[in-house]
Amino acid sequence: MKFQIPKGTFDILPDCAEEPWRASALWQKVEETVRETANEYNYKEIRTPIYERTELFDRGVGESSDIVAKEMFTFIDKGGRSLSLRPEGTASVMRAFVENNLNQQGSVHKFFYIGPMFRYERPQSGRYRQFHQFGAEAIGNSSPEQDAEVIDFLCQIYKRLGLKNLKVRVNTVGDPESRAHFRTALIDYFRPHFDLLSADSKIRFEKNPLRILDSKDSRDKELVQGAPSILTHLSPAAKAHFQEVCNLLDQIQVPYEIDDRIVRGLDYYNKTVFEIMTEDLGAQNTIGAGGRFDGLISSLGGPDLPAAGFASGLERVIQVMLAQQTPLEEKKGPLIYFIPMGEEARAKCFLLATECRHNQITADVELSAKKVQAGLQNATRLQATYCAIIGSDELQSGKIQLKHVQTRVSSEANLAQIVTHLRGLTS
Ligand code: ATP
Ligand code: MG
Repeated sequence: MKFQIPKGTFDILPDCAEEPWRASALWQKVEETVRETANEYNYKEIRTPIYERTELFDRGVGESSDIVAKEMFTFIDKGGRSLSLRPEGTASVMRAFVENNLNQQGSVHKFFYIGPMFRYERPQSGRYRQFHQFGAEAIGNSSPEQDAEVIDFLCQIYKRLGLKNLKVRVNTVGDPESRAHFRTALIDYFRPHFDLLSADSKIRFEKNPLRILDSKDSRDKELVQGAPSILTHLSPAAKAHFQEVCNLLDQIQVPYEIDDRIVRGLDYYNKTVFEIMTEDLGAQNTIGAGGRFDGLISSLGGPDLPAAGFASGLERVIQVMLAQQTPLEEKKGPLIYFIPMGEEARAKCFLLATECRHNQITADVELSAKKVQAGLQNATRLQATYCAIIGSDELQSGKIQLKHVQTRVSSEANLAQIVTHLRGLTS
């Protein structure tokens, strides 16, 4: 019986001709870039479990969010507890921060993470049920610099990956005071149009009218065009904070646009929110997003500390890299590929390859081809730099020809000094 991968999931393979974004080298490239950039911004890695108690997400992501309302993979374990596969990273990071009392070790805490997330969504291009995010959270600082740093950090990762033509859209959802004002204005605006709202937005109208601005329904979108703007409902403090974030972005030369319709899908945001979009992906055009969420940690039972962060989808980032034909480093195969002729040579080649590997030289042996020609083809296919054909003559003389696979130029090497010889060729 043949098995099929579950809907909305995918394999990442060494190479994938029909869907090149599933090639593992690209994933490694993004992950390495995230790690390197995080190091320079002084964010440290945190790893949390793939599943948590469901209540954490109910509380930490918010019951009126699409994620909790519709998209969670929830199951009951054998002990009767409700658990959910994590749909995003922030709630878990905050839970870990509180549970491990990390706030007792300094005043500012900066974390990054990379890993799979799970949402029960309709699978389509750019939207999967198991997808991957990298993200960052900075806890403990309420200043506009922190917001600007987080936005710049994400932009810097994209820049280093070679992404182009991205749009950074920023907005503020204000402080609780501004939001209370704005909420009333939104209710007044949408009430006469209530019957025209989508079923989802009717619920949002009751629970969290701000989220109507985030609706993807085309009729809602039309109504949203005429809705009031948060920017005219800001408290002086919220307004000053937002202006300073914008000033700082100007100073550090992060290009952005203000878009007063951005509210973000999660319930816990306050003040700064942002999204980074591309025009090279079709419908799923947001590659990363984030903002400030000062009340989240205390609502999870932790200390009252401010926080800001972002999350970005690896699938979409990689798909943009490919759509924009971002130049990638050439793939490298083994430095040396040994091709034995006969049983005795095969044993020797195995020993030689092992000796190379033990000395940090990438090496492989042809163990299946019956003919030298097939072995040479494999060396080319694997993108080996050198190959060496070893038969009884070579075993007897102790000398081999190292052939450069591309240039076909050969040099003689002593079998007993293969490691030294290869090091000499590459240094
Ligand atoms: P969308 O509006 O596309 O549903 P979202 O607001 O649900 O996005 P966030 O929760 O902000 O997305 O997640 C941050 C990033 O994670 C998104 O910008 C996107 O790159 C990625 N992402 C979210 N959901 C998926 C998914 N189902 N498949 C692939 N990537 C996803
Ligand atoms: Mg979504």
